[in-house]
Amino acid sequence: MKKLKDFGIVTKLLAGFGAVLVLLAVVAVSSVTAAQPSPDKCLELLKEGNTRFVDGKSNHPNTNQFRLIQAGTENQGNHAYATVIACSDSRVPVERLFDAGVMDIFVIRVAGNVCDVDEVGSIEYGIAHVNTPVFVVLGHTQCGAVTAVTHAVHGTGHALERNIPPLVDNIEPAVRRAMADHPGIQGDAIIPYAIEENVWQGMEDLFLQSPAVRNAVESGKVKVVGAIYDVGTGTIKWLPEHKVGQILSSVESNPQRAMNAMAEAGHANEHAAVSSQSGGHSTTPAAAVSHGGSSSGGSSSRGNHAEVQQSVCCQPCRRPDEHHLCGRGVSSR
Ligand SMILES: [Zn+2]
Repeated sequence: MKKLKDFGIVTKLLAGFGAVLVLLAVVAVSSVTAAQPSPDKCLELLKEGNTRFVDGKSNHPNTNQFRLIQAGTENQGNHAYATVIACSDSRVPVERLFDAGVMDIFVIRVAGNVCDVDEVGSIEYGIAHVNTPVFVVLGHTQCGAVTAVTHAVHGTGHALERNIPPLVDNIEPAVRRAMADHPGIQGDAIIPYAIEENVWQGMEDLFLQSPAVRNAVESGKVKVVGAIYDVGTGTIKWLPEHKVGQILSSVESNPQRAMNAMAEAGHANEHAAVSSQSGGHSTTPAAAVSHGGSSSGGSSSRGNHAEVQQSVCCQPCRRPDEHHLCGRGVSSR
């Protein structure tokens, strides 16, 4: 009996000693600011993680108790190596796709992986405050949002709840561009092309609305990449990096791009101001710019944006100045 009692005391002592060691380790790590890997190195981490995931060889890094203690005591900016915007219906936890763990990725998730004002603000936070050297626009196969917009453009859509059209209207220019660039492809066969165009559309919308992100990319601090996740295989197809530069150059020559990187006092919203001045969603910056030099031919059909809005609108636009009810007008959403 005494031996059991002694054993219990020793166990408690060891447990207490272990806790002290963990605390000391946390304090030691907290006081060290991790060196920021290069954008190329961070992109390589993402690619290697996806390869492990696809091969069934995930390491599940950074998921233990120690990592949770770090998450509660340290700055994510010392750990996260990527910001990723992904679609809500892409089926898989984003971290699992990249075999990443707690604090590794700053994730934004929204239907259609659209980059409208709330998402752009989140991306700016991920890049400027969480200090991630890579940003990924991650589309995916079998995307319900792109499919719904494609059906609406084809005139075969169905009624949508009132808040969905203003959410997915960012996707419509991508669908129309895919159709214009591939006139021989009919029906749902155009959807995979629209999904890729929608990745580029998100990137363009981001650049148009965010001087801070443009500056970060142009200085070499941050790399922006596009990718598409195959929901049936887990494989990520990385899109051509040179096209990002083409879109950025196109945006930099667009007079309607946002120019002030920082918010004004009182949280003035430049995005809303620009949209309001341009008379509603049919002539928003995103609707006015073309993918000049794009590999798909650069044909743009953004001029028809308002027409499609009416076809997918959840409620009639009774007056021209009420178009914001269904689109990216005065209130953006
Ligand atoms: Zn989707």
